[in-house]
Amino acid sequence: MELSKAALFRDLPSVDAVLKSGVAAALLERFGRVAATDAIRAVLAETRATLKAGGAAIPTTERLVTSAFARLAGHDRSTLRPLFNLTGTVLHTNLGRALVAEAAIEAAIEAMRDPVSLEFDLSNGKRGERDDHIRDLLCELTGAEDATVVNNNAAAVLLALNTLAGGREAIVSRGELIEIGGAFRMPDIMSRAGAKLVEVGTTNRTHAKDYRGALNSETGVILKVHTSNYRIMGFTKDVSASELAEIANVAQVPLMNDLGSGSLIDLSPFGLQREPTVREAVAEGAGIVTFSGDKLLGGPQAGFIVGKSELIAAINRNPMKRALRVDKIRLAAIEATLKLYRDPDRLPERLPTLRLLARKRTEIETQAQRILPSVQSAVGSGFTVSVCECRSQIGSGALPLDTIESAGLAIRSTSGGLALERLAAAFRDLARPVIGRLEDGALILDLRCLTDETAFLSVLANLNLDTPA
Ligand SMILES: *Cc1c(COP(=O)(O)O)cnc(C)c1O
Repeated sequence: MELSKAALFRDLPSVDAVLKSGVAAALLERFGRVAATDAIRAVLAETRATLKAGGAAIPTTERLVTSAFARLAGHDRSTLRPLFNLTGTVLHTNLGRALVAEAAIEAAIEAMRDPVSLEFDLSNGKRGERDDHIRDLLCELTGAEDATVVNNNAAAVLLALNTLAGGREAIVSRGELIEIGGAFRMPDIMSRAGAKLVEVGTTNRTHAKDYRGALNSETGVILKVHTSNYRIMGFTKDVSASELAEIANVAQVPLMNDLGSGSLIDLSPFGLQREPTVREAVAEGAGIVTFSGDKLLGGPQAGFIVGKSELIAAINRNPMKRALRVDKIRLAAIEATLKLYRDPDRLPERLPTLRLLARKRTEIETQAQRILPSVQSAVGSGFTVSVCECRSQIGSGALPLDTIESAGLAIRSTSGGLALERLAAAFRDLARPVIGRLEDGALILDLRCLTDETAFLSVLANLNLDTPA
């Protein structure tokens, strides 16, 4: 027995021999000498362990190379993978929020490929400013005196608070001390910004006199926060931004309004609830308004700060600004996205987020009926597939109670819930993963965000229900 094992090991080719064999050529070509050598070494070590344990016969050189190839291809696959978002949440934070417009993609590619006038004034050959590329556009679209942009809205809030209220007090209603998720909690941001939080009012009711009573010589800012992901209903009272602006004005302190998602246009023509636009928030008298780039605006991740000139100038002088700035790639995409807003009528054709949000239920239902037979045949007889009505969410805390009527496919197991979990896992294991949502004993595929039906069907043809969950 021992002797035959030793003999087996002797028959195993060396790393060098495998590499020099003709069959390893493709492996070397695709992954390079270093990675190919490591992979073959690892495969040989595994094989020796299997042989030692008494398993299997000596594999052929082809077999060894195939294993090494599979190993490297697995490592090579990106972990940040494109997928089908059929969750029904259009701006899904975990799935990357807004899909940007083609114009923004092209602008970003150009900025990556070639040198750009990032901080260079082409008119006089002198140093320019990063913000120059978006300042005028943002002012034009919001009516603000000045504007700047940082990494995301969390950064915008942090930077603005630090500038306006660092070492001083910031007054906020108890009804607006929000947690957005992903560790964005207003009180924590406040303390990291070095501002002392002064809470006023109660959870459900805050009055003008509450704000007035909290004002003193230490007040740095009055902060209004959009309660993005929840609503307080019933016996409630809050103070409008315009009333707060008056209070702030009398006290000679700035009002800052964090809109969260914010929107540059009225979205009600697209069937969404009417929300104040950024322009309106500026007109209401806020000194600073902050909002996100990748929520309803439909651009890349960014945080916009617009408002009064002297406040924006102070923000730009804050050394923190440098740590929170955006790079040329995103700046190019932001500029291109904002430019689309100059022609609001054509936004739904050009801005994927808006296009998806505006899709009509009837159109989605027709699509569901069309693809049902293919989905049924892919999942097999262990499941039943039917067209269902459902409601999509906007997501990212934008319009939390506003859902849009949609349609999709409901997949039910004929043999219990475990099979459904396995089906969801198999969908995730596809070359381009399909992400639905498990709800009421069914796997729901909300088709609102299914734009590339052909790609979906071709990927689905490889659904493998034998993959371990
Ligand atoms: C989403 C949100 C933020 C954070 O914005 P990001 O762009 O995700 O950093 C801040 N404030 C409010 C009210 C929000 O809704």
